[in-house]
Amino acid sequence: MTIPHTPGDAQALEDRLGAALRQMPDPSGGPVAAELERELATAFGVPHAVAVASGTAALHAALSACGIGPGDEVLVPALTVVMTVAPLHALGATPVFVDSDPATLDLDYDDAARKVTSRTRAIIPVHLWGRMGNPTDLTSFASEHDLDVVEDTAQAAGTTRDGQRAGTAGTAGCFSMKDGKILWSGEGGFLLTTHHEVAEHARAFRSHWQQAPAGEAPLSRLATNSRLAAPLAAIALANLRRISHLVELRQEQTRRVLHALEQTPGLAALAPAAGEEWNGFAPLLHIDLPNPRAFAEHLAQQGVPNSTGSFRLVPCDTRPMFTSPDRPCRGAAQILDHTLAVVLTERDTETTLDRYAAVIAREATAWVP
Ligand SMILES: *Cc1c(COP(=O)(O)O)cnc(C)c1O
Repeated sequence: MTIPHTPGDAQALEDRLGAALRQMPDPSGGPVAAELERELATAFGVPHAVAVASGTAALHAALSACGIGPGDEVLVPALTVVMTVAPLHALGATPVFVDSDPATLDLDYDDAARKVTSRTRAIIPVHLWGRMGNPTDLTSFASEHDLDVVEDTAQAAGTTRDGQRAGTAGTAGCFSMKDGKILWSGEGGFLLTTHHEVAEHARAFRSHWQQAPAGEAPLSRLATNSRLAAPLAAIALANLRRISHLVELRQEQTRRVLHALEQTPGLAALAPAAGEEWNGFAPLLHIDLPNPRAFAEHLAQQGVPNSTGSFRLVPCDTRPMFTSPDRPCRGAAQILDHTLAVVLTERDTETTLDRYAAVIAREATAWVP
């Protein structure tokens, strides 16, 4: 397995951070965020990247650029975290939760079609655990119903399907660089888009409409501040330059854990779809044991961090702040109840990974709920 931090990587990161620090304080924010944006656009093969302070802020800016506002409905999978939905609330729009298909983890497009109304304006596919779903199904559904597509790609940097990069299939792709994501900068985010107007809007939106789109006066609208600070942009840039290493490392870590668990009774790896080059965000296993959620929680207590056991991930439509008139999204609930998603970071060594696998195997074999 590749070594997480080669000395060259660490040195490049420190050099870049040092250069950014020496330029501070710089009221212009310095040149590094713009440099990051140029390199992100090149790395992902899109014309525009806009750096912001978080993944949440990227979604907020992208949805604002799509003109989403009060009275609008936006389709969101119930199989997601609250961070996907918070920007809709901030814009005054209504999330409409859509179920997912337990066989594929992709959106249930029959359920999505049932939930489209005259007010539906956009859909936010969420590539949870780095799995991106079928981009052809997504774009044909969106064009049939005339919807904008804002991808929540926070966990899917590096995933491709049928040659299509996650985050490049729709109007905008929104990434987080919070620690724990594959491309990290402590905190941070960015959006990718092929649309010049979306990029212009997002640049205005992240900085109080000071840098207004062509034809508009600066400060002619209220917006927000979600600029990415220069030191974080410097970290992001250094990490972007080794992104293929970061993705390969995560894939290697995930393969190692899954390989060690191949013969474990009651657990089966959730393989990616044909044509999907998965970033390996988290080792994913279907739990076929009694009381699977209690099993995931038990593993968390035994030192194996995981989505449902450590973070109590539940379908978003069942959270108390959403009083949905719709029937609950059962597919999403089934997926979350039965999926073990082990939380990894770049610093997890072979020893840590082997310990995770050993604990999982031991506890699965002995499991009596
Ligand atoms: C991390 C994450 C977010 C939010 O990103 P922040 O940078 O923490 O704001 C949104 N959606 C998903 C799926 C995430 O994993």
